Amino acid sequence: MTTQSADHLYSKSNPYSSGLLVNRVMTEGSDKETRHFEFSLQDSGLSYEPGDSLGVLPVNCSEVVDDLLSVLGFSGTEPVQIGEESFSLKDTLLHKFACTVLSKIQIKKFNDIARVPALEELLKIENKNDLVDYMWGRELIDLFKEYPQQGLAVEDFVSLLRPMPPRLYSIASSLKAHSEEVHLTVAVVRYDSHGRKRKGVCSSYLAERVGETIPCYFHPNKNFKLPVVQNAPIIMVGPGTGIAPFRAFIEERMATGATGKNWLFFGDRSQKTDYLYGEEWIRYQKEGILNELDLAWSRDQEEKVYVQHKMLERGAELWNWIQEGALFYVCGDASRMAKDVDQALRTIAQEHGSMSEEDSAVWIKSLQKEKRYLKDVY
Ligand SMILES: Cc1cc2nc3c(=O)[nH]c(=O)nc-3n(C[C@H](O)[C@H](O)[C@H](O)COP(=O)(O)OP(=O)(O)OC[C@H]3O[C@@H](n4cnc5c(N)ncnc54)[C@H](O)[C@@H]3O)c2cc1C
Repeated sequence: MTTQSADHLYSKSNPYSSGLLVNRVMTEGSDKETRHFEFSLQDSGLSYEPGDSLGVLPVNCSEVVDDLLSVLGFSGTEPVQIGEESFSLKDTLLHKFACTVLSKIQIKKFNDIARVPALEELLKIENKNDLVDYMWGRELIDLFKEYPQQGLAVEDFVSLLRPMPPRLYSIASSLKAHSEEVHLTVAVVRYDSHGRKRKGVCSSYLAERVGETIPCYFHPNKNFKLPVVQNAPIIMVGPGTGIAPFRAFIEERMATGATGKNWLFFGDRSQKTDYLYGEEWIRYQKEGILNELDLAWSRDQEEKVYVQHKMLERGAELWNWIQEGALFYVCGDASRMAKDVDQALRTIAQEHGSMSEEDSAVWIKSLQKEKRYLKDVY
């Protein structure tokens, strides 16, 4: 193993090519597809810390690109000049540009070329909600199918595209437990809309790879770190793929012999099919490293149970842990889960800390300021 750090050698613009070692479905029998990935860092000298993310630079799906080319009436061999270099249109679409998710700017640019009265109307400021509804579930190809553009110039088409953005994934491993490896937990985006099967660019790119090299880079996150104080208790709330950094946290705490207590709240649809890393949590409980484990299965009973419900059920103990100096971590869905968890924390402060609603809001702010309430939500 190389001893000198090579972290400065690789970046978004100069990614590291990592060998994909493991690509495993973790949710056999579920209607969700979540996968565990292991990548090799062998002899790279690269390092990361629990709480950091891995940036992945995906390649567009070849069939998706072919479908788009066929709707546009291009062969794919048309030359495209990027900077000093010339590429075929197909290669450009595969590697350089995002060519699925549709944005307002793209519709605007498209309309500058196509001049469609229905789009003119949608683009008016007063119709912004209708525009959002229109974009939901539609991709670039849908625009060209709905409003075909005969004789469109390749340059005009390429001018509609934005560079392919990398995707970030919370790292699910500790280097101390998996030397020269980095692990991820990825929910694969697949859905049907407007009569077509769709898939997320990066999650499906990863899902469909076996034994290849993947361009990636590390994205440090200094705001989502384990406590420096080894005996500080931690509370981790990570339903779904939000579990990823907490697997890294527990592995790291085990490897460093941290004495602080660990409490995990995990949840998903069904215990039978969606218990991500279930065997590891059971083992950690037996070994005494995981002191508390609360599980919320939304579809295993009549009423929906989520992690925030489990927090409220355990409100008194959770309050005690925070009084003892515990750090509170949340990872996963930003749109609903993180808000519901935040509200549950306020309710616990009101019920068990005898605070008013206003006091609990001030308390939450101070917890954040002290860096004891940390979020990695997306
Ligand atoms: C800091 C950070 C950490 C992250 N960690 C993780 C992680 O550990 N694991 C993980 O899985 N993800 C994680 N993500 C999310 C990840 O980066 C990607 O956003 C995710 O994998 C989707 O990317 P994609 O390329 O597969 O999908 P894209 O091609 O980007 O498509 C996603 C888009 O598809 C559309 N869409 C999705 N579902 C539907 C539907 N049902 N109907 C209509 N439209 C729909 C939406 O417009 C959505 O924005 C993280 C994100 C951040 C910022």
